[in-house]
Amino acid sequence: MEWEAVIGLEVHAQLLTRSKMFCPCPADYQGAEPNTRVCPVCLGMPGVLPVINRRAVEFAIMTGLALHCAIAPQTRFDRKNYPYPDLMKGYQISQYAEPLAYDGWLEVEVNGQRRRVGITRVHLEEDVAKLHHVHQPTGEAYSLVDVNRSGVPLLEIVSRPDLRSPEEARLYLMRLRTILQYLGVCSGDMEKGTFRCDANVSIRPKGSSALFPKVEVKNMNSFKAVQRALEYEIRRQIRVVEQGGEVAQETRGWVEEQGVTVSQRTKEFAHDYRYFPEPDLPPLLISPEWVEEIRRRLPELPDARRERFEREYGLPRYDASLLTASKEMADYLEACVRLRPLSGEALHRTAKAVSNWLLGEFSRLLNLHNLELSQAKVPPAHLLALQDLVDQGTLSVTMAKAVFEEMFATGRHPLEIVQERGMAQISAAEEVLPAVEEALRGSPQAVQDYLKGKETALRYLIGQVMKITKGRANPVVVHTLLKGRLEEMKGGR
Ligand code: ZN
Ligand code: MN
Repeated sequence: MEWEAVIGLEVHAQLLTRSKMFCPCPADYQGAEPNTRVCPVCLGMPGVLPVINRRAVEFAIMTGLALHCAIAPQTRFDRKNYPYPDLMKGYQISQYAEPLAYDGWLEVEVNGQRRRVGITRVHLEEDVAKLHHVHQPTGEAYSLVDVNRSGVPLLEIVSRPDLRSPEEARLYLMRLRTILQYLGVCSGDMEKGTFRCDANVSIRPKGSSALFPKVEVKNMNSFKAVQRALEYEIRRQIRVVEQGGEVAQETRGWVEEQGVTVSQRTKEFAHDYRYFPEPDLPPLLISPEWVEEIRRRLPELPDARRERFEREYGLPRYDASLLTASKEMADYLEACVRLRPLSGEALHRTAKAVSNWLLGEFSRLLNLHNLELSQAKVPPAHLLALQDLVDQGTLSVTMAKAVFEEMFATGRHPLEIVQERGMAQISAAEEVLPAVEEALRGSPQAVQDYLKGKETALRYLIGQVMKITKGRANPVVVHTLLKGRLEEMKGGR
C-alpha cells in the first residue's frame, strides 16, 4: 500500500515590539540579566490589570493581510488555563473563539510548482517564562525561573493540514519566516526561539480522505530539524500500521541527537484548557479604516520584490527567487547597485555580477562559517570595488575569489589586498612573454604534439604559463602569445 502524509504546522513567532503584550516592560529579553524585565503584570501578581499593546495588534493585522486572511472586525482574548511552573498566572491570555485573522493562504514553490497552503488562523497571545533545569555534579537537581520572557507578544499562525511532505513543510516555514522578516514583525531566529514550530502529522492511504490519528511533534529548533523529525515520524507511523498496530494520538518530542521522536503525553492526559473570555480585557474592535490604513503601509513583499528584481535589474528568475527569499541578501544587492548612478545594460550587468557573488562565493563562505550576511565583514562598496578589478582585467576570476576570501576573513579593501600581495593580473605582452618562452622550453613534448596537429596540447601549455606566473597572467594574452609563437615554429622560425 502507498501512504501519504498529512501535515499541519503551528508557528509561534515573537513580535518585535518595544514593550510586552500586556505591560510596559521591554520585550527584548534576550541577553538581559534574569528577572530584570519584569513588573507585577507579567509576574502574574493578583489584582493587576493587563493593557493591550497596540503595536502588537498592528503587527498581527499586517501579518494577517500579508497571508491573505480576513481580519475580524471584532475579536477578543480568552484565558487558556493550565498549571505549569513557567506560567506565572496559571493561565495564558490567548485568543480562542475569535482569532484576529483567519482563512488565509501562503504560496510555496515545490519542485518548480506553486502550491497554496491554507492558513486557518492567526492570533495574538503572550509568551511564558523560561525554566532553567540545573543538574549539579553532586546529583542535586533543581529548576530556576527567568520571568523576562513572560508576556512577550506572540503570534500563533496555524496552517491547514495541506502539506504532503516534510520538504513541503520546510519550504512553507521558510516562506513564512521570510514574510515575517519582510514585514519587520519578527526576527525569525529558530535557534534563539523567536520563531518556533510544532507539527501535526498523520498518514493515510494515498488518495484517500480518511482521517488517521494525528501526532503532535514538538522541540524542533531548526528548519532541518523540522524536516528530519517529520521524515522520522512518517516512517514510524507507517511501520506501526504495517505491523498491524494503530498509531496512538499523542504528543511526541524530537530528540535531535538521536534523530528520533519520543512519546511525551498520550490522549488520556491531554489538557482541558477550560477556555473562557478574559474578563480583564474588553473586546477588541478593529475598524475597516484602520485595516485599510495598515494595508496601504504594507512593505513590498517577497513575490513583488522578485518580480521587480527581474524587471528592474534584468536578473534571471532563478537569481531573483533565491535573492529575495532572504531579505538580507536582497537588501545587500540593492545597497550595491544604489552606490552608483547606473541604468540600462550597465545596471543589469552590475546586478548580475553582485548576484553571482552573493549566490556563489559569499553564500559558500557564510555557510562554511555558519554566519548570517549581517555578520559579514564585506560592505557593498568593497564588493563593487572587487568586481571593478575583475571588469578592468586586473584580476582573473580565480584571483578575485582568493581576494574575496581575504576580504571575508579580514574586512579589508580589495585594493589593499591586491597591492600588498602583488596580485594584479599581468596583461602586458612583454611581461607575459618570458613565461611563455619558459613554458615552451620546459615542455618540448607538448610543443611537438601541437606542431603535429594536436590542438589540445595548447591547453596544457597555457596551464604551464599560468603555473609559472602563479595564475597572474591574463589567459587571453597567454593564449594569443602562445599561439603566435607556435605558429612561428610551424613556419620553421
Ligand atoms: Zn511586565
Ligand atoms: Mn499558542
